Formats: sequence, structure tokens, C-alpha cells
Amino acid sequence: MNPESIYVHVPFCVSKCPYCAFASAVKREGDEELYLDSLSREMELRRLEIWKIKTLYIGGGTPSALSPRSWDKLVRLLDENFSFEPGAEVTAEANPGSLSPEHLALWSEWRINRVSIGAQSFEDGRLAFLGRTHCAAQAKDAAESCANAGFSVSLDMMFGLPGETLRDWMTDLREAISAGSSHISVYQLAIESGTPFAGRDLPLPEGYAQYRYAQWRLPRSGYSQYEVASFSKAGHESRHNLNYWNDGEYAGFGPSAWSHAGGARFRNAPSLNDYASLLASSPVVFSERIEGERAARQAAVLALRTNLGIDWVEFSKRYGTRCADAIRRDLSLLPPDLIVNEPANSRHTAKGLRLGNAIWARIV
Ligand code: SF4
Repeated sequence: MNPESIYVHVPFCVSKCPYCAFASAVKREGDEELYLDSLSREMELRRLEIWKIKTLYIGGGTPSALSPRSWDKLVRLLDENFSFEPGAEVTAEANPGSLSPEHLALWSEWRINRVSIGAQSFEDGRLAFLGRTHCAAQAKDAAESCANAGFSVSLDMMFGLPGETLRDWMTDLREAISAGSSHISVYQLAIESGTPFAGRDLPLPEGYAQYRYAQWRLPRSGYSQYEVASFSKAGHESRHNLNYWNDGEYAGFGPSAWSHAGGARFRNAPSLNDYASLLASSPVVFSERIEGERAARQAAVLALRTNLGIDWVEFSKRYGTRCADAIRRDLSLLPPDLIVNEPANSRHTAKGLRLGNAIWARIV
């Protein structure tokens, strides 16, 4: 395994948001030590596989929920185990309620150059509905502090809340733009099974108008849409995420982290305790090989998430002409207002990106 992209999962949150199905939990006494010791053990086990890395993404969970003292240990661990290419993109996720000046000082001093903030909204009532632990003023302050400290700032914003008007969403996006961000990701609230929201009969708006508004508004403020949910100022695209969408290889560390290498995908145990106890042999609890036309179809869907779409010359070289032709035939049946099919390239129109899920279901 020789990936150039590394993901490190921090499995802690200050509290659990009622819509969230990610692998994270509220920290208990001793959890940070158990986590760091286990991570160190996993890195030791896999050390010889890792070469110079181009992107590192420290996500969660809430990485800023780790104390600055534990962050100090984490960065030392990362320096001991990896070497970084000059100009490597290094991202940390943060939530406004737990991000402190100490975190920012340590991140600036080390090699973090990009902070992805889970703002979600700049309106207190919407944040309270989502069970977030921060208020609008903290979200604004976190974004501005990160921008002033020289980080490239990405904001996660959520639309599609019950009772939301288009004007609410317009205000939220305006605030996100004015907070000094260079990248904005927009997500629609989805009800995931097993979460507290799944037990409530929430009247969610369709969300089409909100998404369409983001596609109209953000480019007018200098953010180009380069992926279904992602808008960026020039040069601030997430290189780490682009590697996922290009079907690249990556190594994930920590509870629940996924890795992709050598035609296989595998996942570590989701709970911290299971992950820690399995490290005596291997923390991997799921693995699968993805080959042939299935691999090609999954890669096609990933590529279609981006504005560049599928480069057929490269795609045919990588997955074979037979698979490429089969996918091309499927795409040729879609209406031209959803997809642009050219001899060298297929990509979604703006409307196609809005309806992506329905289209991709036809390809895989
Ligand atoms: S902060 Fe993020 S990861 Fe944590 S519970 Fe909320 S949505 Fe999930």
C-alpha cells in the first residue's frame, strides 16, 4: 500500500447532533489517551506502507474536541510516522464551540494550512434545532479567526431544515461569504436511520430551490462549483477530496476510517473500544475487492460528481474500453439538459448536478 493521501479520524464530539450518523461519541475520562495510544499502535503496524504524502485530512467527529495537549501529541505522532511533500495540503476539521486560540496557535505552528468548519448556519434558532453546541456569533468568530490566522477556510452549510424559507438560506449564504471563507460546502439535511431525527416526523422542504440558489449565488461571489456540494475560490479546491472523486488511493487511520488501495476498500472498527482491542491483530472489520465493471461504474459516478466529469481517454486506459463503452451507452440515454456527452468527455450540466443521485442510480 502506497497512498499519497491520509485520513485520520478523531472519534469525539462535544455532544451528539440529532441528525448525525457519523462514527463519533462524547468523550469519557481516559478516551483521549486510549485513542492516541491506539492510533500510535496502528501507525506503527502500517508504517512501512507509507511514503511521502500529498494530502492529510484530520476529520471526525470533531478534531477540535481534542484538547490542545492531545493535539500536541497527535502532531508529534504524525511527524514521526509520515513525511510530507512540500506544499502538502493539511486540513483539520473544527467546530466553532470547541475551537480555541490554543488550537489555532498549534495548527499554525505545525503544518495545517486548511480548516474546515462545521458552521451549518449563522442563525441561532436553526443551530439550536440542529442541536449544535455553538451560536451564530461563535461560527462567525471561528471563521474570521481562522482566516485572519492565514488558513484557507472551508465552511459546511446546511439547508433543507423544516420551515426554512429561501430567504433564510439566502441570509446564511451571505454570512458564509462575508466570513472570509475560500471554500463553501452545501449539504441538505437528510434523515439517517438510527438517529433521533429519524424518530420524528419532520416536514422537510424539497430543497431544490435552495440548492439552485447556491449554484446561482456562490459563483457571483467568486466561488466556482467544482463538485456536487463544493464551491471554491480559485486554488482552494480540496485536493484531498478530489483524490476521492478521482478514485485515488488513500489510507485511513483511527476508528471507522476507510482505506482504498490495490483495488480493495477496507474499514476499521467503528467504536473506539473495538478498534483499540482489535489492534493486537488488525483493526479492519470490513473489506471488499472492487473489480471489473463494478469498479468502473463506481469510478464513473465519483467522476460525475465533479465539474470535470469523465475523461474517456484516461477512463478507458484505467478501466478498459469495454467498461467505458458500456457506461457511455448508459449516459447517452440521458437527456441533454442533464449531461453533456462529447467524444472525449461526459459531464453533468448544472441541472444534472442537482439531480445527481437519481442519475447515478442508473449507472451503478
Ligand atoms: S459535530 Fe459533526 S460529527 Fe459531531 S455529532 Fe454533530 S454532525 Fe456529527
